[in-house]
Amino acid sequence: MSSTKSNSKSQHEPFMEAARELETDDGKARFNKGLRGVVTPEKKVCPECGHVFKGNGWDGIDAHWKSKHEDVMPYDDAWPLLKSGAYT
Ligand SMILES: [Zn+2]
Repeated sequence: MSSTKSNSKSQHEPFMEAARELETDDGKARFNKGLRGVVTPEKKVCPECGHVFKGNGWDGIDAHWKSKHEDVMPYDDAWPLLKSGAYT
């Protein structure tokens, strides 16, 4: 009869493992990736640094990109890729 109690306890273990996984960089990266899928289409995330654009869509990306990532790729080149989701 008491076996039902131990069953409910073991159900927590997968969650504990998932929580522990998030501590690692790999888990964090996967978590962010998943988050991106959940948060979109409203919230856009900078693929370079993970900055979340809190405004409307890509509002502020031009200023953000030009100040932070212009050396990675010129904004004029990056923007079409960002907009279409092709930038990785
Ligand atoms: Zn950025």
